[in-house]
Order: sequence, then C-alpha cells, then structure tokens
Amino acid sequence: MTDDSRPNPLLTESALPYGLPDYRLIDAADYLPAFERAIAEHRAEIAAITRVRSMPTFENTMLPLERAGALLDRVARTFYTVSSADATAEIQEIEEALAPLMAAHQDAIQLDGELYWRVKTLHGHLGDLDLDDESRYLVDRHFREMTHAGAALDDDDKSRLTAINQRLSVLTTTFEKNLLADTNDLTVVFDDVEELDGLTAGELSAAAHNARDRGWEDAYAITLTLFTGHPHLSTLTNRESRRRLLEASRARGSRGNDHDNRGVLLEIVRLRAERAELLGYGSHAEYVTSDETAGSPAAVQDLLRRLAQAAAENARREQSDLQVIVDGAGGGFEIAAHDWAFATERVRAERFDLDRTALRPWFEAERVLQDGVFRAASALYGIRFTERRDLPAYHPDVRVFEIHNEDGSELGLFLLDLYTRDTKRGGAWMNSIVSQSQLRGTSPIVVNNLNVPKPGDGQPTLLTLDEVTTLFHEFGHALHGLFARVTYPHFAGTNVFRDFVEFPSQVNEMWIFWPDVLASYAVHIDTGEPLPADVVERLHASETFNQGFATSEYLAAAWIDQAWHSLSADEARAVSDVGAFEAAALRDIGLDNPVVPTRYSSTYFAHVFSGGYSAGYYSYIWSEVLDADTVEWFRENGGLIRANGDRFRERLLGVGGSMDPLAAYRDFRGHDARIEPLLKRRGLDG
Ligand SMILES: [Zn+2]
Repeated sequence: MTDDSRPNPLLTESALPYGLPDYRLIDAADYLPAFERAIAEHRAEIAAITRVRSMPTFENTMLPLERAGALLDRVARTFYTVSSADATAEIQEIEEALAPLMAAHQDAIQLDGELYWRVKTLHGHLGDLDLDDESRYLVDRHFREMTHAGAALDDDDKSRLTAINQRLSVLTTTFEKNLLADTNDLTVVFDDVEELDGLTAGELSAAAHNARDRGWEDAYAITLTLFTGHPHLSTLTNRESRRRLLEASRARGSRGNDHDNRGVLLEIVRLRAERAELLGYGSHAEYVTSDETAGSPAAVQDLLRRLAQAAAENARREQSDLQVIVDGAGGGFEIAAHDWAFATERVRAERFDLDRTALRPWFEAERVLQDGVFRAASALYGIRFTERRDLPAYHPDVRVFEIHNEDGSELGLFLLDLYTRDTKRGGAWMNSIVSQSQLRGTSPIVVNNLNVPKPGDGQPTLLTLDEVTTLFHEFGHALHGLFARVTYPHFAGTNVFRDFVEFPSQVNEMWIFWPDVLASYAVHIDTGEPLPADVVERLHASETFNQGFATSEYLAAAWIDQAWHSLSADEARAVSDVGAFEAAALRDIGLDNPVVPTRYSSTYFAHVFSGGYSAGYYSYIWSEVLDADTVEWFRENGGLIRANGDRFRERLLGVGGSMDPLAAYRDFRGHDARIEPLLKRRGLDG
C-alpha cells in the first residue's frame, strides 16, 4: 500500500547523478499512479500546442512537441527497465494493465488531427523555413511517422485502428508472459548426474543450485535459453539428455496448456494484416518496410532468398561431415537436430584441433569486460570507466560504471546486468534509462542485459565464446546510446531505423579477436597463460566453419517472420494451423531440413510477436552488410586506433537518428556498403 503522505518518488527528479532513478525509494505501487499523472501531463502539453491560434511555426509546434512528455519518458524508462529484467508478479501485473493505457495514449497523440495539421503544414513549407539540418529532418520525421501511424485516416478508420492497437498491446504482453511461464515450466530436471556427463563442475553446481532454488533436492535443473538451441547441447554426451533439452525448448508455447501462444499469435497476425490494409498497404511487411531503409518486402525477400540457397547447401555439406564423425565413432544412428552441436564440436576438434568448450577458463567474465570490452572502447574512443559501487541499481547483481571522455568531461553511466534470473526475459539487449538530448539537457544512462547462468557460490563466471560475443555486441549498442550528441530526444542514439540499429553493435564484435585486445583479456583463470597463439590461429581458420548451419537457422527464422507478415487480411484469416504454416514457409525457401531447425519457432519467437521486430527480423543480416563492409574499412585504415574511433563516433554513432542513416554511412565510408564482405564472412561466396 502507498502512504498518501509520502510523495511519489517517480514524480520528482532523482537526486542521483545523471538522473539515475533511485530504485531504493520506489515501490511497485508507485508506478501506476505515476504513469497516470505523466500521461495526463503529456496530454495537457500537447493540448497547449494545438490550442495555439497562430499559424504553425517550428517554435510554437516542434519545440514544445519535443519538450513534451519528459515526465512520461522518465517514468516509462524507469519502469520498463525493471519489467524486462526483474519482472516480479506484481510488476508483470502492472505491465499488463499498462499496455492498453500506453497504446491508447500513443494513439491519442499520433492520431491527433489538429497536431497532424500543424506538422503537415510545417512540412509543406519546409523549403521556406530557416532551419538547421537536424531541425529540418525532425519536421520530416514527425510528419512521416504520424502519417505512417494513421493520422491521415478519417474518424471511423481511426477508431477501428485504435481498437486494433489496443487489442495488439494486450496480445503481445500475453505472448511474452506465456513464454516466460512456459520456459520456466519446461526447465529440464535431471535426477542422475550421469545424465549430465560433459558439463563442467561449475555448470553442474549451477544446475544443482538452480534445482534447490525450485525446491528439488538431489536434482539438476537446466533452464532454457531464448532460442531453439542450448549451449549445453555441444557438450552433453548423453543423446537422450540432449534430446530432452531440445524438445523442451521447441515445445514452448505450443503444448495446449494455459501458456499456449498459437491462438495468441494467429490473432496478432490477423490484426496486423487488417491494420496494414486500413492504412493502405497490402500486408504488415509492406507497411513496416515502407518506413525502413529496406523500403519494401521485395528488397528484403530478395536478399534472404539470395543467401538461403547457398546457406542450405553449406549446411547439407556440414551435415554429411557430421554423419562421418558419428559413423566413425560407431554411433549407429542418423544425425538428428539434437546431435548437431555435439557432433560439430567433434568435427571442429578433428579438423581444427579445437575444443571451444575448453576455452572457457580463458574467458573469465570480469577480465573479458575490463580488459576486453572496456579496453577496446578506450583504445578507440579514449573513454575511461570507473565503477560506482556507491550508486544503487534496480537489482543487487547490477553494476554501475561512470564513463568519462578523454578530456575528462562526463559522458554517462553504463549499467551491466549479466546474470540470468527467473524474473528476466530471455536473450540479451540494451536499453536506455535516460536518453541523451541537448534540448532536455540530459546525458545518457544505458543498460546491457545478458542471461549468463550465475555460477555456484565462490565459483568464477567463465563465459562461452558466444557469451563473449554477446557482451561485445550489446556494448556496441551501449556505445551508440552513450555517444549520442543530438539536440532532439527523438533522435538519440539507438532511435534509428530498426534495420540499421544492429549495425554498430555488430561492428563492435570485430574487436573480440583483435590481437591486442584478445591478448589482454583471454588469460587463463588459473595459470595466467594467454590463449596460445596456435589456438587463436585455429579459431581464425575455423571462422566460416558451421556457418551453413548458423546462417540457415537465422534465415529460417527471418523467413518465418516475413511469411506471417506478408499475408493480406483475407489470407491471414484463412490460416489456422501454426505448425503447418511454418513448415510450408520453410519448404518454400528451401530451409526445411529437419536437422537444422529454425532459430525460433513462431510460438516462442518473441522478437516478432512481443518485441519490436515484427516483419523486421531480417534486420540483423541487413545490418550485417554494413557491418562487414565497415570491418573492412577499419582493417584498411589501421584497425584499433583513436583516429578510426573518432571518425566512426563523429560520423555514425553520434548522429543517432538525426539524419538519413544511409547518407551517414556514405559520409563515413566514402561509398555505399558492398555485399561481398558479408558473403565472404559467411562462406556464401562460392
Ligand atoms: Zn543487437
């Protein structure tokens, strides 16, 4: 219960540095009242703009529009940080109650006829206005975004649109809630340690700890990851254990229980198709890509089809190599999906004399963070990191770092939330708690979330190579948020087109194997030995190894996303069998090899049914074209040096969404991105 005499801490600015929310003072019960107040305040601010009788000007329309909603922005960022990373039952309930409120509020502003008239009028006179480039682009973006949201529709269509958005907000929240519940339910429990042969002592103790937390003594519990595969599949020697783990993972959301997502996603697909039609588009994919750098579903599908055939062929070649290994060991079985990762590691061992699972002692988390991730960023951008143990975060496991520029000026705060917990959604992500804006006078606070299993008491956190990659990747997003130097909050950092946003994070992965960086972080936890040079060489030599599988499983998921969202409203109404639809889509693009399952099946494809990637999962490979081309640029120009970092920061990271991203890219690179570096990297160049 809230005490009426106690002021709601969310309504006043935090006294902590950079406006870091003081979560110690906030009760879950403070959120809803704060949201209600902030929404009302935002509406009043918009009403004050539309009440103005004089003709629209930049000063009487755009500036107050950008200043408006500061309180709501603060409350929402404070809340959604927690609802993703530490969603207790109470927080989940609030999130569910909020979803329709927030959708309605967003519609009320985006579809406001008078506001739209003012923005449209300004846009019509853009040539006559004396504005700097960022301000000019701001008018253009607001006009396009409001039009895209439906501001030009008549009142009847607007009310149907609003009803659809309301319903979608509820359904996407339900999808995520079901997925979290079913993932927890499907935790795989083993009674006998023999079944887990192949796991390290640390992994076993974490699994035992995990089981005890859930009230099971003398058992081992393995939590599922967001995607289809699981890191343990590469080391578990027991075939049946692997089968159980993969089966549990693939069953999520489709078991006919209370957490079944099939009906939920069918309704989402139908409503999205109906909305697209209402807005004048043939499908949701057409609607979405019309305001992305891709421009059309045809452009997306061309790229996916172009890559799929070569990827599927590579995967089939890899599969026969794996079968040889299985047969050679007298396996006596045909390789199945749950054998792939395990057999792959055997092939890797044989062909490259490389055991990736044995690398973990060289990847101690703290060392990777400080001497890898932070060190690379310091070398490129001159920034310095100081841990602020005096600053509280939203959970005791979260660490706070302050970042300064080379000249000593303050840049912002970086929060790292490394470990998995039942209240955290799966996967890894970056979000901003405060976004940078000169207009609002704010400096950035960004968070990176991962889902690394917490080691048993007293054990160090040893990362897999995939987790090391994720840490560098997410920190690339963090830099995008931290280096923002825009005027308007609309454009800060990662507020760019969705099919562009993965580009900076992917580029940051290039430093993982950069010799100076690797030498400083990849040091054996017990012996202090660096990762041997020949191991590094073999890692390089094996870079395109297993890329047929990795590319295929990704493309399969991207294609499923496209297939669902390319349906017209009529077509969407006719689909009733989720599994059959998915299978047909995979056959269509030739990615239906049962041994290479899709990275996500529809019923647990959170990116597209509850996250922001609907008709947009293609973005990763789309951004990777830019990424691979940029990696070439860094290599051509001397790699990890300050001059290169400055150019990348100045021309790309810092501008955020404040200009056309492909123009920013040309300015940085000197020409448009070429696809060849990507084909080479993924072994698709024939
Ligand atoms: Zn990312």
